[in-house]
Amino acid sequence: MTIARYRGRFAPSPTGPLHFGSLVAALASYLEARSHNGQWLVRIEDLDPLREPAEATGQILNSLEAHGLFSDEPVRFQSRRHEAYQAAIDLLMTTGDAYRCVCSRKELQQHSGRHPHGCRDRQAGPTDRPSAVRFALTDEHNHWQDLLLGPQSQTVSAELDDPVILRKEGFYAYQLAVVVDDIDQGITDVVRGSDLLDMTAQQTQIYRALGTTPPRWLHVPVIVNEQGQKLSKQTHAPALNDDKPADNLIQALVALGQMPPASLAGAPVDSILDWGTSHWRREAIHLTSG
Ligand code: GLU
Repeated sequence: MTIARYRGRFAPSPTGPLHFGSLVAALASYLEARSHNGQWLVRIEDLDPLREPAEATGQILNSLEAHGLFSDEPVRFQSRRHEAYQAAIDLLMTTGDAYRCVCSRKELQQHSGRHPHGCRDRQAGPTDRPSAVRFALTDEHNHWQDLLLGPQSQTVSAELDDPVILRKEGFYAYQLAVVVDDIDQGITDVVRGSDLLDMTAQQTQIYRALGTTPPRWLHVPVIVNEQGQKLSKQTHAPALNDDKPADNLIQALVALGQMPPASLAGAPVDSILDWGTSHWRREAIHLTSG
């Protein structure tokens, strides 16, 4: 039996420059991969040009480089992967795991999330209304093991939760693209912020519908500001200062519950990453952040 070599990734959506919270998520996935002698990939999830300033991708890649975080393979861009997402949608439509939906958000709200047009039951066919494509979830209590948080369970309600996988505007959606690319890139371990925990059960069903098994999951606590809000563009998190990568990495290690020695302050980024790899203790991550 061959055991798949560990392959992890950091997959930011380029909605703005990296902030401290995203560095913590990147570093956690990097150290998990390195401490397993694994590979670490960077993927830019640039699916939504309306939400992504043109300069953000370059800023993110420069920032990762300044912190010594280099992808082991050429960086993947989801904006260049539309054919693969369409192929997955075609397959899911053929197997009945996806359907066209003409409902507006307002109509869905008025019907408590149920589709007034009976989208799920109707054969896919031409429609004169703009339509999205949704993934047809199966009702279930989904249980899985998070490598940090332990046993997880989530109730999936078919129809009510069915995620959009192709938006009416023609953009492929995160929920599908992330799974298609994690499968295609042979990702064995997804390490990401716990704000995405609720996505896991739905993504697990998409893995199954595409005929494969999900990776291992590890969700790290998100970093919050003094008001208790997740650091993000919406909460005006400041961009990382790329002139101080050593300080940023030390602070990120501390945020992850690791205990870098004072002597590491000001060391070259490679030395900090080497120390982080050889001393990485996933179980030291605090389950709450802030
Ligand atoms: N692109 C997603 C984000 O920036 C993360 C995807 C993932 O790690 O599953 O929120």
